[in-house]
Amino acid sequence: MYRSISFFAALSLLFLTACSNETDRSAASTEMVGEDMAPSIADVATDMGLDGVDSLTLSGSAWRIRNSFRQTLTASPPWPERDEVTSWVQTIDFTVSAMRGQGDTFASNLFFAPPVAGTHVINAPAGTDSWSQQMEVWLTPWGFVKGAQRYGAQSSQLERNGNSYTRFSFSSPESMTSPSGMRYTVNGYVNTDGQVVRTETWLEDAFMGDMHVVGIYADYESHDGLMVPTTFEQQRGGGGVFGVTVSSASANPANLAELIPTPENNAPNNGGGGAPAASEPPADLTQQVGDGAWLVNGGYVSLVVEFSDHLAVFESGQSESRGEMIIQQIKDNISDKEIRYIINSHPHSDHTAGLIPFMREGVILVTHEENVEFLDRALNTPRSLLGETDLNAQVMGVTGVGLLEDATNRLELHHVPNLHTDGMVVGLLPEQGILFQADFTLPKPDTDANPFVKTLARYISENDVQFESYQGVHAAAVSQTRAELLATIAGE
Ligand SMILES: [Zn+2]
Repeated sequence: MYRSISFFAALSLLFLTACSNETDRSAASTEMVGEDMAPSIADVATDMGLDGVDSLTLSGSAWRIRNSFRQTLTASPPWPERDEVTSWVQTIDFTVSAMRGQGDTFASNLFFAPPVAGTHVINAPAGTDSWSQQMEVWLTPWGFVKGAQRYGAQSSQLERNGNSYTRFSFSSPESMTSPSGMRYTVNGYVNTDGQVVRTETWLEDAFMGDMHVVGIYADYESHDGLMVPTTFEQQRGGGGVFGVTVSSASANPANLAELIPTPENNAPNNGGGGAPAASEPPADLTQQVGDGAWLVNGGYVSLVVEFSDHLAVFESGQSESRGEMIIQQIKDNISDKEIRYIINSHPHSDHTAGLIPFMREGVILVTHEENVEFLDRALNTPRSLLGETDLNAQVMGVTGVGLLEDATNRLELHHVPNLHTDGMVVGLLPEQGILFQADFTLPKPDTDANPFVKTLARYISENDVQFESYQGVHAAAVSQTRAELLATIAGE
């Protein structure tokens, strides 16, 4: 039995119009004439103390976004959870366009103690044609000036918040283009003291589209004539993902070869990662689990719910190819009814990558209201660097308990915020007695449950949510039950 309908908030139809995403290639500011007053990039190089500088190194402390980009507690920035990085050393060799940064931190995450020691590395080796690596050099203030000199930057004057800036803009060399063949744009903003205070570029991202990447540089100090910002930060998707506080810096370090080892001696870089090889999908991965309810097995599991004239799918898979395969499995083995809704359990990268094929098919994304702003912006960002058309994604938010229901079936979406993410929903099929969840994986026998499993168990207990079968996006080897979930908080 479940409680009366009055408990449920109706699915709130929050169709948000695409908000202005930050992909406008020109700054949101007033352009001014007066080119004759503008400094040249050579002037800026001199002001920055870069004449005769072929390399530099700096040290200090740093921080990085905890759990990595798009694995945060809250979908939208700011993302205040950070790992401290100590003993940070960052070195750039402009002659070969190489950079390496390394410091000590944790391989920890938000949830589990004790943290394990680890390192944080930024690696842009010489000779790579990976923009995701090379942009790390060009987005530094010094790399920006060197790039602007090498590739013939255009300049313009602009005013922002009452301050005057010169914006320099250059394109990546013809040898370095996006998958669609576009050269990348790099902009840098120079204040009236000749300091680069902001840089930006756009990097293709399978989920974020033409992702805006921004460098912010503040509180410049002279280190023997070399101008160095005391703090800097890189932002992606509108929020800070990495930052440094500089304590010392020097130009043309004598031990350059030691600071940037040759590529053979480098650890494998952390960029890239090719697409997994396509494999022949098994004939039928679907499994009926109740009236009008199926699982699509064989990877990140999806729940498919049939209504009289459409389908709703809970969870889209961990990759675009998995998302495509789920859609194909549904069409081939479940129903040819319209897939009207794709429900996202939570906004982490491995639970959203498979949304892209659903967006291409015009399926409406349903997610917790907490996630709407970020997902709407990401999915409605232009995808020109990828060579793809806009997704025109429709994103709908639910709060409290969302309800998809008609005369034939009923799917409840319960919001269960927890230490893993505050935008988490689980799916309940009351008629079929199934709870479907992501990342609330029950503990192995004789081990303690993690804090977010306990949060779900308390929610189920306190709200008397009834079901028999406990099903997961991460399938368990043996069938699990409500009783096993509640056992994780026995004795509380
Ligand atoms: Zn997750």
